[in-house]
Amino acid sequence: MTYSLPELPYDYSALEPHISARIMELHHSKHHKAYVDGANNALAGMAEARETGNFANINRLEKDLAFHLGGHVNHSIFWTNLAPGAGGTPEGDVAAAIDEFFGSFDAFKAHFQAASLGIQGSGWGILSWDPVGSRLIVQQLFDQQANTAQGTVPILQLDMWEHAFYLDYQNVKADYVTAFWNIVNWENVAKRFEAARANAGASLLV
Ligand code: MN
Repeated sequence: MTYSLPELPYDYSALEPHISARIMELHHSKHHKAYVDGANNALAGMAEARETGNFANINRLEKDLAFHLGGHVNHSIFWTNLAPGAGGTPEGDVAAAIDEFFGSFDAFKAHFQAASLGIQGSGWGILSWDPVGSRLIVQQLFDQQANTAQGTVPILQLDMWEHAFYLDYQNVKADYVTAFWNIVNWENVAKRFEAARANAGASLLV
């Protein structure tokens, strides 16, 4: 199998009271697992299509791969973007970049929050590095794979699917987003920012 479910870097209960152990367990062991299985199944279906020369299902398989691989990547990033006892404000270069491209940390937070809460349907709020403009941008990702530009590199993601918050927050999405800021692992965001800024443009702009 090409893709596998990563271990969480903390216990299911570690993010309480902001995200409950019950949500974390279902979200990781059921939802994320389903994306991993779906991506592997799509690859297997494509291999079979090549072997048999029957590409009748290729549109469905390509869509399945985008959706499920998207889900696998999104959740793998999201888990490491979070940590128990984290939160606060970013430091160093990523903090300076947020100030540069959004005006201030508070302005970034307001922008990211509005974009996340405004998603129509299921999706993700994302802070990304855009290697073409050499800048940070906020994106709304629809479902697991739509509405973002090729080559942008996510450094902070917030899952706005109902499965991510409904058991804890029901329809009050804003409380979930407020709680999210208490568990953002800014060290991980900083690491992802440095790596994106150093490498992202290299493969895109040859
Ligand atoms: Mn999810």
